[in-house]
Amino acid sequence: ILSVYNLGKNYVSAGRNLTVLHDVTFSVEERSMVSIVGPSGSGKTTLLGLCAGLDRASKGSIELNGVSLNGLNEDARARIRNQYTGFIFQNFQLLPTLTALENVLVPLELRGLKNVRPKALDLLDKVGLADRSHHYPVQLSGGEQQRVAIARAFSNDPRILFADEPTGNLDTTTSERIIRLIFDLNREMGTTLIMVTHDMELAARTGRVIRMRGGSIYSDEPMVS
Ligand code: ATP
Repeated sequence: ILSVYNLGKNYVSAGRNLTVLHDVTFSVEERSMVSIVGPSGSGKTTLLGLCAGLDRASKGSIELNGVSLNGLNEDARARIRNQYTGFIFQNFQLLPTLTALENVLVPLELRGLKNVRPKALDLLDKVGLADRSHHYPVQLSGGEQQRVAIARAFSNDPRILFADEPTGNLDTTTSERIIRLIFDLNREMGTTLIMVTHDMELAARTGRVIRMRGGSIYSDEPMVS
């Protein structure tokens, strides 16, 4: 479902050209789960963002669900993102002025879909927040906010879910609940999962671990937890 070939990314910062990814090649099978691990600054978030079409590569190619992202402008990438992907961030990234329900509803409405309220309520129910739908993010715990973000990420029935340190800001017990929820929803919906994490034990649970170092893939192996 994802093929990445010879991917490279440069940033120009303070007049200097910085290469943060070089010659990254890998592919991911539909319905599989993959973790990306590596030291801080090794390019994990950059790689995830490129694969999800959030940013544009400097070199190489990415094919997502059979569609090439090469050379697409921001609007075209946004369409592909809306159609095929969900994204979960470490810091949840909910809109603070919207309720839990509205945070799930608004992206559906922006896609021009009608009568989306039942679907949004169903998703909030799936993540165990049916009774919190009218709460604002500040009125929710970190774990609850991440559950709203998960409901939002699944709202377009994504083929592929990208998660960047989804439990990075949560305590151990809450993290375990969130991870189980993500794994369960992935299996139930047949979604492919690509997750960046610092937690090796968690990474091993996805069955395949890609290790990054200095902007390249250093190893890519099946793992047994
Ligand atoms: P962490 O685990 O700390 O989140 P990471 O492995 O996800 O790190 P990235 O966030 O992908 O690493 O960053 C890789 C490198 O790219 C870092 O050196 C970072 O400073 C640099 N970088 C990231 N975004 C930009 C940007 N917009 N402009 C310039 N440099 C950037």
